[in-house]
Amino acid sequence: MDYLKGLNEPQFEAVTTLEGPLMVLAGAGSGKTRVLTMRIAHLITNGIDPFNILALTFTNKAAKEMKERIAKVVGVSDARSLWMGTFHSVFARILRSEAHYLGYPSNFTIYDAQDALNVLKKVIKDMSVDAEVYKAKKVLSRISQYKNNLITVNAYFNNPELMEADERANMRLIGEIYRKYVEACFKNGAMDFDDLLLKTNELLTRFPEVLAKYQDRFRYILVDEYQDTNHSQYLIVKALASKFENICVVGDDAQSIYSFRGANIYNILNFKKDYPDAVTVSLEQNYRSTQNIVDAANVVISKNLQQFKKNVFSENEVGEKIKVYRSLSDADEANFVSANIFELHNTQQRKFSDFAILYRTNSQTRAFEDALRKKNIPYRVYGGLSFYQRKEVKDLLAYLRILTNENDSEALSRIINYPARGIGETTQNKLIVFADARNVPITQVLDNLGFYAPQLGLNNGIITKLGDFWAMIKAFQVMLKTENVYDVAMEVAKRSGLIKFLKEDQTPEGISRVENIQELLNSMQGFIEEQRQIEDGDPSLSNFLENIALSSDTQNDKDDGDKVSLMTIHLSKGLEFPVVYLVGLEENLFPSFMSSSTREELEEERRLFYVALTRAEKQAYFTYAVSRFQWGKITDSEPSRFLSEVDSKYIEFINPMLEARFVNNSGISSYIFDERPSEPRFFKKKEEKKTLERNETIPAVKKTLKPVATAKIINPSGSSSEDIEVGDRVRHDRFGVGEVTFLDGTDPQNIKAKVIFANEGEKNLILKFAKLTKI
Ligand code: ATP
Ligand code: MG
Repeated sequence: MDYLKGLNEPQFEAVTTLEGPLMVLAGAGSGKTRVLTMRIAHLITNGIDPFNILALTFTNKAAKEMKERIAKVVGVSDARSLWMGTFHSVFARILRSEAHYLGYPSNFTIYDAQDALNVLKKVIKDMSVDAEVYKAKKVLSRISQYKNNLITVNAYFNNPELMEADERANMRLIGEIYRKYVEACFKNGAMDFDDLLLKTNELLTRFPEVLAKYQDRFRYILVDEYQDTNHSQYLIVKALASKFENICVVGDDAQSIYSFRGANIYNILNFKKDYPDAVTVSLEQNYRSTQNIVDAANVVISKNLQQFKKNVFSENEVGEKIKVYRSLSDADEANFVSANIFELHNTQQRKFSDFAILYRTNSQTRAFEDALRKKNIPYRVYGGLSFYQRKEVKDLLAYLRILTNENDSEALSRIINYPARGIGETTQNKLIVFADARNVPITQVLDNLGFYAPQLGLNNGIITKLGDFWAMIKAFQVMLKTENVYDVAMEVAKRSGLIKFLKEDQTPEGISRVENIQELLNSMQGFIEEQRQIEDGDPSLSNFLENIALSSDTQNDKDDGDKVSLMTIHLSKGLEFPVVYLVGLEENLFPSFMSSSTREELEEERRLFYVALTRAEKQAYFTYAVSRFQWGKITDSEPSRFLSEVDSKYIEFINPMLEARFVNNSGISSYIFDERPSEPRFFKKKEEKKTLERNETIPAVKKTLKPVATAKIINPSGSSSEDIEVGDRVRHDRFGVGEVTFLDGTDPQNIKAKVIFANEGEKNLILKFAKLTKI
């Protein structure tokens, strides 16, 4: 039992207490996931059939890694029989076998967020409600909230409180939209992500025999990242575990970061109530990170009021201080990070896969992608617009979806006239109206085109085109009966005209679209090969599509290669990297401007910060930009409050010096000052920046500079624009007359000016574009 040797005492207890309810509540990097993994290995070693073990993880990637580790202890074949995966993937699989109970076809389609949004948009459009009030994204998140709290359409209409709340929010029709959306999905034979949990709950509560079957099957249940389960997931676990009560959950309340998706931190508290005999284990030693990183993270998280007090320490090396880089712009920030990676790769022999760039929002990736590409550094972006969400990939997948589920009208509308085959929108609408009026699926109309043709009101030419299209789909379906998914998909890509159409576009984007199709086809071959190796492997198209629908947490399942990882902090949970860059540490970005109005929201942002920092093993970098291109314009930004919450003893500035030049009557005098004076403080308020521009005290040098006309801050090594100087009076086409108060930037192409205009107030302009004239 070598695998037990590497455990500390509380870890050992958690791994070897096999029966009964157990909760491990412990800080980041303390070995929770490791405990869970070893516990599964220990269960199997002790003769428990892997078939009776259910392990739920937060991402598919985590499940895959866990399986690999378990395989090392118990062997590959036992590890394969484990039921392990995300809530969504495990319960999708169960729903497929039990779909008939709920009136769904077993090959139901799984809608990702984008599919769901498309369906909802159509519902909203058909209802002719104000699309400005009922914004699809907003409505969808509302519906998602209801579903995750098990509020079905009926339950909604039986709950006056909810209805009143929506009415007060001027969203009186939400209930109706919800009903129509649910009907549309059902008609399409499709479930969205939330349905996978909602319907599982329905299955387990309405059909006791099904519940009993899975209770007997899953005698041992383990859940990682328990702090981020939502109500719906909580109920599923509770129902399944209620017979044997062999349930082990591990989590960290300080890492609860999904409350916007309904995650309920109180599930952890409830655990003791639900299972009064539960054993609780706490782990205190962090094995992942240096002391410096652990201590810094502790200081920040201790600012949260809402938390269990935990003691987390590291006995690893003290390690380097966290390095902070202040950049001038988002591009500058990205260049710094890529240059730094390049350097560490060369000087410290770090692999590219040792690095992670973590950010708050997906839109931040582009600058980093550009910068990494320039240096030929290989990288992978996780999440965001993943491979499977790219248009061309989704188009081919839509063809394949129709082959397994004809009722999937979302897929049908995607492909019926793509590539263009003369079946325009008018025709499509006619078909929809026609089918709706007779209450039959469109596919039934297409199946019986000859019969319906006279009533359809379409000309013969169009009828022929529809007939040809549908005959082609039917031919693919026949092919699917005997051929493998790869061959069928290849045929679809060719015969549908998709490849030919994409090949016509010879721009780099066009070429990469064709490559993506090729890559999708490759992944099918990989899939077939993989399924062949599994004992009860299922190389069917439905299984392929299901895997894809659920793989949204990784870009492209292949996890090969030595690449830098780019991902949002949310996706980084549970992972670890030797070197982490936490970027965009600015107010309104992180904490996000949408989540800093209440204390609760701010505490969740702080937990995110804690998660991000605790991903780092050896080195952490913080970066922020003093200005950023956002929504098409340059905006000034201020360092994140989280930066000042990290005790200064844990951090070190890479470019701490700012040079302030004060122009006065006797010439120019320069002062170098530290941006971060003795106490941890930044320019939190706009006013503080102003003090540098006017005759005020500079806090850092504690010196009053008088008489002072203006000042500018330049980069230590920087230069500034020759033509326009701070203090110049200038005219701008639109804003009128003003005075330049601030110039910033080293790249002559990118010098920014702050100008106070007599009528328009303060504006930030890029000199190159602003076309200011001196007056
Ligand atoms: P998180 O909260 O971030 O999910 P965690 O509590 O799940 O973290 P793990 O990922 O299980 O922590 O462990 C963190 C790192 O510490 C891993 O690399 C793991 O292999 C290592 N580790 C855990 N326990 C020990 C131990 N007893 N001896 C040596 N290394 C350990
Ligand atoms: Mg973990």
